Amino acid sequence: MSAPATLFVNGRIFQSGVKPGTNAGLSHPPTFAECMLVRGTEIQHVGHASDEEVTTARAAGPDAVTVRDLEGKTILPGFVDGHMHLMLLGQALNKLDLSRCKTLDDIQTLIREYAAANPDAPRILCRSYMHSMVPGGAKASDLDGLDPQDRPILIDSKDLHTTWCNTAGIKDLQAESWADVPGGIIERDADGKLLGIFSEAANITYVWPYLASVATMQERTAAIKAAVAAYHEAGYTGMIDMAMDEGAWDALQALLAAEGSIPMRIAAYWLVKPLKTEAETVAQVDRAIELAARYNASTTPDCRVVGIKVICDGIIDACTAGLTEPYSHNEHLEVPLWTYEQLEPVVKRATQGGLQIALHAIGDATVTMVVDTLSKYADPERRPRVEHLELSSERDAVRLGENRITASIQPVHADPAILGAWPKLIGEHRCKRAFAYREFADNGAPLALGSDAPTAPHSPFGNAYVATTRRSFREPDVETTVNPHFALGVCESFAAGTEGAAYSCFDDHRIGVLKKGCKADFVIVDMAWEKERLKDAKMEETWYDGARVWSFSE
Ligand SMILES: [Zn+2]
Repeated sequence: MSAPATLFVNGRIFQSGVKPGTNAGLSHPPTFAECMLVRGTEIQHVGHASDEEVTTARAAGPDAVTVRDLEGKTILPGFVDGHMHLMLLGQALNKLDLSRCKTLDDIQTLIREYAAANPDAPRILCRSYMHSMVPGGAKASDLDGLDPQDRPILIDSKDLHTTWCNTAGIKDLQAESWADVPGGIIERDADGKLLGIFSEAANITYVWPYLASVATMQERTAAIKAAVAAYHEAGYTGMIDMAMDEGAWDALQALLAAEGSIPMRIAAYWLVKPLKTEAETVAQVDRAIELAARYNASTTPDCRVVGIKVICDGIIDACTAGLTEPYSHNEHLEVPLWTYEQLEPVVKRATQGGLQIALHAIGDATVTMVVDTLSKYADPERRPRVEHLELSSERDAVRLGENRITASIQPVHADPAILGAWPKLIGEHRCKRAFAYREFADNGAPLALGSDAPTAPHSPFGNAYVATTRRSFREPDVETTVNPHFALGVCESFAAGTEGAAYSCFDDHRIGVLKKGCKADFVIVDMAWEKERLKDAKMEETWYDGARVWSFSE
């Protein structure tokens, strides 16, 4: 007897018509098939109501084939988030959300209420403060006294580049004993006293591992499950983790051992941090090579280590992105976190080990440095990639295409509602170069769309909305656009968020497209195929491996 089958009829089954590794272009229209037959874990047929496969399936009767009338709704491939942070997202889902606060007063009020409502939590963990909420600069004393038990209070900035904590938090972290790290910021007052603000490499080197080490295995596996559930609801069936470490990897293995499988295609890039010596830094690449030899597309295709990730600069809002010209408001010239000399041995070793390489570069100076390094030392066949690409030159856009470097972009970061400070920080003239997606695509760089969750909303429709309209998804009434001439097309955006992201990590032969022989990972959506209406798309169901894993009605 064959596996149970479902025949979807009367639908709009998305077909991008795009060749793997290429982009659709601004106005390329997709086509839509009417029917899709799913049997077991695979797509068995996509086509027309009159196709023989469809008529045969219908004739088999309801015991053999369930027929579903889609009533004109759309089926898209399950989305693959090209850049996200699984453990941080899962943990963030369980933290106090400060993103709606406007002032320090709002922050203090929320924390006071939360502390009172959660008397048993060992720490008060919060997320999503923005530097603009505390214009005078955040410090530990702002948080002291909010909790009668004086527990550690630790707050992630919305961009995840900074942690702000109270005095009890500084003690909990034992931050007094920390040495400065290259590219890290440990803020102190004039007397050298810690202010409770840890940014960039200091945050990554000290705070993240500490919080990961105090999280119990049960908390970590619960975080993964929460993130996977949230992603099913949003329409994802695949994710590319962009800062995998031992703690999160152990938790994934523990969860797999306990449950047999995790209903998500997970590809991980191992985070390589700048350590004291070159040998220590490169040893992290060796660890990734070792893991990739064990967990790869042939052995564990749904949970594998595919490469390394290096965070080569910070972000514009914190004035830590590496720029070719000084910041406009203070004439400070910020350089990338890594030098050419530091980056070269890491990229070389990863290339020797057959790993993929993902380099985070936000400012234009950093983009130039990473494109230089990748074009010199990375193997273009291994689909190297640059993450974010927020400010870039025309010349580097051309070089991305020439060197077949994936442009891994997060349109939700281009939301005009969060870019208010940019004209002051980098000047209007440089704002005109922001988020130049059109140039990347037209020059032939393969596109992969991602959300960078939990730093930004992870709705794939929000992502497509911003990419195509260049308007705000967070505040849809705001009519401001950000460089609309750099917009992507609708088909182009959906292709980049599905097959493009799958292509970026060599998974395009089995996911990201709706065709015969591919995995039955897809979503059913009530939507209109118009860019202005993408934000109103209504997710109805998510299917993974031929089974429904989320439904709006349940
Ligand atoms: Zn990220």
